[in-house]
Amino acid sequence: MHEVVNDNQSPPKRPFIFYAIIALVVVMLLNALLFPTVMKQSVIEVGYDQFLDMIDSDQVKEVAYDESAGEFVFIAGESEDALGVYKTGIWPDDGQRLLQQLREHPDIKFSASIPTQANPLLSLIITWVLPILFFFLIGEVSYRWMRKRMNGQIPGGMGNAMSFGKSGAKIYVADEKTGVKFDDVAGQDEAKESLMEVVDFLHEPKKYAAIGAKLPKGVLLVGQPGTGKTLLAKAVAGEAGVPFFSISGSEFVEMFVGMGAAKVRDLFKQANEKAPCIVFIDEIDAIGQKRHAGEMGGNDEREQTLNQLLAEMDGFDGKKGVVLLAATNRPESLDPALLRPGRFDRRIPVELPDLQGRKSILLVHAKGVQMEGGINWDIIARATAGASGAELANIINEAALRAVREGRRSVTQEDLEESVETVIAGAQRKNAVILDQEKKIVAYHEIGHALVAAKQSNSAPVTKITIVPRTSGALGYTMQVDEGEHMLMSRKEILNKIATLTGGRSAEELVFGEDNMTTGASNDIEQATKLARALITRYGMTEEFDMVALETVQNQYLGADTSLACAADTASKIDERVVGIVKEAHEKARKILKENEAKLHELAACLLEKETMTGDEFMEVLNR
Ligand code: ADP
Ligand code: ZN
Repeated sequence: MHEVVNDNQSPPKRPFIFYAIIALVVVMLLNALLFPTVMKQSVIEVGYDQFLDMIDSDQVKEVAYDESAGEFVFIAGESEDALGVYKTGIWPDDGQRLLQQLREHPDIKFSASIPTQANPLLSLIITWVLPILFFFLIGEVSYRWMRKRMNGQIPGGMGNAMSFGKSGAKIYVADEKTGVKFDDVAGQDEAKESLMEVVDFLHEPKKYAAIGAKLPKGVLLVGQPGTGKTLLAKAVAGEAGVPFFSISGSEFVEMFVGMGAAKVRDLFKQANEKAPCIVFIDEIDAIGQKRHAGEMGGNDEREQTLNQLLAEMDGFDGKKGVVLLAATNRPESLDPALLRPGRFDRRIPVELPDLQGRKSILLVHAKGVQMEGGINWDIIARATAGASGAELANIINEAALRAVREGRRSVTQEDLEESVETVIAGAQRKNAVILDQEKKIVAYHEIGHALVAAKQSNSAPVTKITIVPRTSGALGYTMQVDEGEHMLMSRKEILNKIATLTGGRSAEELVFGEDNMTTGASNDIEQATKLARALITRYGMTEEFDMVALETVQNQYLGADTSLACAADTASKIDERVVGIVKEAHEKARKILKENEAKLHELAACLLEKETMTGDEFMEVLNR
């Protein structure tokens, strides 16, 4: 989210027509002043005879024949100071007498045209230089005008507008201090911890430079809208006390062709001058989408902008202290080039807040609002599972508005509960807000995975379980971390892992009955199947097929597709065996859960209550 700030320092806009009119007036004035004096007023018309007389009396200095007018133009005068321009009238004798005269006066110059009194340099200026200048001026003026127009679309940070680049374009930079601190960002402890290093680096770039350590140039904040990515980026700048540049990816794309790339160049130029600083690119997926080779009529503008961004990222000196933060909620759609080392190679997930997180976000936003004493924040936090930070901030505001509407001086519990309804249940149900029943199912599902994992000796212990919806779209999540470096997997470990994967569904079946199993296990099923198949076809761990490679990995780098390398008959036998392995594992998981049903209920209740459980908390309840 951005606060768009008024462009209060830009000079008043002069329409381009203003300059055009000035140029036109200048040209017309010059015309009126110079040409008439030369061409009209001082040309005296004389008769043919008089002309011949003037030649005879040696007054004529120079003669020219003006073909288009059919007359002679000549310069003559009594003395050198009184020369004038004359032209002849009709000459009746085909010029025979004139020729005669001219032959007798070889000193008279006969030139192609009579130089007028106007300075030749001046006429050159008028006929050539002025028009060129004029068009140049029009071009320049309209260029600036366009840049200024586009400037209106640049998003604001807060405060100081700074002059930007030679072109006179401007970008809006937050005040030297954003004023946002990590304390203003509630929850998000993991994200804050990762960003702390960036802050430290900005504080003391020399410390890192001295050792030769390079900090990532780019950090990608990944999370749903409203989870506080912009807020975190501002907080990094605020904590480090460095300027904060922000721009949104979508604005690059709306520009005229070529402007996006120019804007990127300007942005980096300015950032380099202000280093150390933070450059924040919101919605980076708008420019950073995958480029498709051979795509017809692709968005050239976007591609140019992206290329420029990549070039600038490679070009700038990481030691100087320019750190790029970018936000997206679709990291999978980003061009791989953007994610390469030296670019956005660090990724920080910014997840939806859990119960505790929601409570603290509510408290942060309640600070500035008059609250009645004794508000039960737990109730509000509990009712808003799946809400983002922005939505929680909105809930507080809605409650305050409701209090004002009803003529009260402070916000009550009821106001808050009402506004939860309007903000969450109302318009935003489409978002990740989960129904209570769904939440319960997810809790049992996740505990099912964790319990099966914990009860199998060789399975890695869980480190974190959560039923807060993830950016990935998963409703819940059980994170297992293998102990130590773990490159090889034994047959037993693979079988245990398959059992763990079936644990989620097994718990659902056990608690809610077979008819109520849900689609939540689709990813588990996919993974379990893959593992079981690999066990047979690639790892050679079954008796029937022994150590025969039945599948080959097609492309190691592009998702590692595999293809069967066996007869159709063998393939169907493999399929049978895969089903067998998964069935066995599923059976095992069900057995484990049945044996520990009391713990399953206890743990699920605990997870429902807390929404997030660490591995230690889990083990504590399990061993209680
Ligand atoms: P994003 O950039 O991820 O879309 P923002 O950073 O713009 O989200 O968040 C929008 C608003 O929501 C913030 O200005 C803030 O008021 C509120 N908000 C979001 N997350 C938090 C949080 N963790 N703590 C406090 N406020 C938050
Ligand atoms: Zn699962």
